[in-house]
Amino acid sequence: MGFGNKKLYKSPAELRLMVRPGLLTAAALSAVRSAIAPGVTTMQLDAIAEAVIRDGGGAPNFMKEPGYFHTICSSVNDEIVHGIPGARVIVPGDLVSIDCGAEVHGWNGDAAFSVVVPDPAQQVRVAQRQQLSDATECSLWAGIAALASARKLNEVGAAIEDSLDGAEFGGVRFGIIEDYTGHGIGRSMHEDPPVFNYRVRGASPDVRPGLVVAIEPMVTSGGIESHVLADDWTVATDDGLDAAHWEHSVAVHSEGIWVLTAADGGAEALAPLGVVPAPIP
Ligand code: MG
Ligand code: MG
Repeated sequence: MGFGNKKLYKSPAELRLMVRPGLLTAAALSAVRSAIAPGVTTMQLDAIAEAVIRDGGGAPNFMKEPGYFHTICSSVNDEIVHGIPGARVIVPGDLVSIDCGAEVHGWNGDAAFSVVVPDPAQQVRVAQRQQLSDATECSLWAGIAALASARKLNEVGAAIEDSLDGAEFGGVRFGIIEDYTGHGIGRSMHEDPPVFNYRVRGASPDVRPGLVVAIEPMVTSGGIESHVLADDWTVATDDGLDAAHWEHSVAVHSEGIWVLTAADGGAEALAPLGVVPAPIP
């Protein structure tokens, strides 16, 4: 068994078809981010994302997951991923992670961000949550930067792990979730290969033009053990400590890499890391 599977690599024409769903995913997440405030329900955020995607000529791809009926996943505080939007009201101090994907003409985007709602009444908690989100975001960009020069895909996970090495708050080390990983993306939202958020040894796919991956570190302010709630979807930390989640879909092509789910291809965030993304030719 190996990773010689030609289907891991898209043609230049296929890569071009992934630009629109990527940008539409970015637009939906941007709209949700602007709307996150105390008093808003996660179901209202879901409706905003769905409207942006449908108005842009796409379809919410999370709805294609059997048994899932929403556009976003909204995971708050100790929830890591796969939180179902509903009547939950955002309150000051919440750490909100939003995951979303758009499909256009059968091709998919997938991305996520975390944000902390300001709360002057609990400054330490807010600072801790912000530090967790920032460290997770930094690790995502470190992983994306690594992809730009990687020979093997597992260099991405090593870069994410290295980025989070020593990350902590108040003496408690942050933990990298291992039970969930990133993934290839294309005609389906979830494809081979898995993209680990930590160092793994052994065979790993070649990084070469045509590879498109969703890189998505999930990081906690404590342990990495998790469980699924009674709703059969929401994944939460066992220790009740917070979790953050950041994700982008990234294409490798003949002239470099391009972050499909960032409006600028990742240029601004990658500049400090010495990586200049190149538009898909
Ligand atoms: Mg996602
Ligand atoms: Mg994903």
